[in-house]
Amino acid sequence: MRLDKYLANANVGSRKDVSKLIKKSLITVNGAVVKSPKAEVSYEDEILYDGLPIVLEEFIYLMMNKPDGVISSTEDGPTATVIDLIAHPQQNELFPVGRLDKDTVGLLFITNDGKLAHQLLSPKNEYYKTYFVTARDNVTDEDLHKLESGIDLKDFKTKPAKAVRVSPKEVVLSITEGKFHQVKRMFQALGNEVVKLKRTGFASLTLDETLNEGEYRRLTEDEIKNLT
Ligand code: URA
Repeated sequence: MRLDKYLANANVGSRKDVSKLIKKSLITVNGAVVKSPKAEVSYEDEILYDGLPIVLEEFIYLMMNKPDGVISSTEDGPTATVIDLIAHPQQNELFPVGRLDKDTVGLLFITNDGKLAHQLLSPKNEYYKTYFVTARDNVTDEDLHKLESGIDLKDFKTKPAKAVRVSPKEVVLSITEGKFHQVKRMFQALGNEVVKLKRTGFASLTLDETLNEGEYRRLTEDEIKNLT
């Protein structure tokens, strides 16, 4: 990546600002002053501004407990997005992997790693997404069977899933698909309604229950290693 882009991405200043700093000989790369904004640098290089390290992370992996009332798209608009909740100098590179409805809470994986995101979202890889569903009405054995074997939602039939009832109105449902409003539509098709939806699992990740809604943390090395 170009040196001016690296510095701008690290929030040192705009491209114009950082070009001035470079021309003033204030930036060194691996111990040597570099005077061209176009110089190529990589994440492994040691880049100092006036003697202070400017570190840009190549890959960022975060787990958030998404709160209610916040959207998970990254589009600009009047409504707060999950990315607005993240304090990181590279915030503008981050995006959530997959979407949760505005009123859905729970596990959201957020990264700047496009290749990994693509792999995790590819329908052919069939990664599980697990939801703790609170329904309006009791869930019968027949409902569980339907949830597991597939429900005809007219535009598509859901793939085999896992459904475990944990109380009369609460079900832990694991699905491999991620169609728009899928879980809500599955319960609607049973004549029931989802009153609260919380995602507790995504691929190999399990929601860290010590995170309050709206909080996030970095993934551990093991969590990153086990992702694919
Ligand atoms: N299914 C839904 O209906 N909503 C979500 O947010 C996620 C899955």
